[in-house]
Amino acid sequence: MSYVVQLFSGPQDDVEEVETEFYDEVTLIDAGDNTTGITCSNCSGDIHVGWFFDLIEEKGEAFGNLDFEVPCCETVVALDSLRFDWPVGFARFEICAMNPSRAKYELDDEELAEVAELVGHPVTQILAHY
Ligand SMILES: [Zn+2]
Repeated sequence: MSYVVQLFSGPQDDVEEVETEFYDEVTLIDAGDNTTGITCSNCSGDIHVGWFFDLIEEKGEAFGNLDFEVPCCETVVALDSLRFDWPVGFARFEICAMNPSRAKYELDDEELAEVAELVGHPVTQILAHY
C-alpha cells in the first residue's frame, strides 16, 4: 500500500484516498461507466452490457463461481474469460486509489510489475469511472 501511495505523492495531495480490501469470495472489481461493450470468449458475439449488469443485480458482486451461461451462444463460460472493452477484475484483493491525479494517472507496466512483486500475485489495473 505504501508503494502505491508514494506513486501518487507529489507537491499537492495527488490522491484522495488509497485503501485495500480483502474479499471472502472472488468479487467483481468493476469499471463503472467505462464498461460499454462485452464480447463472448466462446463465439465472439456481442453481449449486451445490460445482461452483465442484470447478473450483478441478481447475484451481487461476490461470485463463488464465475461460470454462467451467456445469452449469445447459450454456452457456459467463465465471466473472467469475457472480453470487456474496459477491463474489469475478478479478485479477492483490491487496492484502490480514489481520484488520483498525476501526469499519467494509470500505473505503467513497470509499476504494475512492482505491485505484483510486492503482493506476490499477478495484478490487473482497473480504471473505473462513476
Ligand atoms: Zn457466445
